[in-house]
Amino acid sequence: MGETSQPVHDADTAKLLAWLADHDAPCPLCGYNLRALTRAVCPECKQELVLTVGAKRVRLAWFLIALAPGMFSGIAALFLAVPIVGQTLLGTGYPPWGILLVDVFGLASGGTAILLARRRVWFLRMQMPRQRSIAMSVWGVHVVMFIFLLTTVFFW
Ligand SMILES: [Zn+2]
Repeated sequence: MGETSQPVHDADTAKLLAWLADHDAPCPLCGYNLRALTRAVCPECKQELVLTVGAKRVRLAWFLIALAPGMFSGIAALFLAVPIVGQTLLGTGYPPWGILLVDVFGLASGGTAILLARRRVWFLRMQMPRQRSIAMSVWGVHVVMFIFLLTTVFFW
């Protein structure tokens, strides 16, 4: 930036300009149509342009839907663990086993969500119906555990 020298037309820039000679493409910054560009700079916003590899639109919907319950449960379980540990340390009794079970489930679910986030490539490579059935199963298990938690709290 600020240099007045001519842009260096390396091999990649030449290929970029050759492709833009007969293709419509929007500037990634301002959306200006870069067709028939002669320099690798957007005429509208002056953004320098480079030849790059893009990814086909990645569909993240089922991945995020599958991830959400675990992230929520993990965080909720961490908060729930505070009174459980506190009660145990103070020796004021133990919470019902159902609460302990739900908390362990929540922590395991949070851990699984972190694992899934790290293995997202494995998930995103699967066919959409498979992604959907995994996401639905994740929600199903969490809805059952949530109902179980509500009944446990109700009878506490
Ligand atoms: Zn631009």
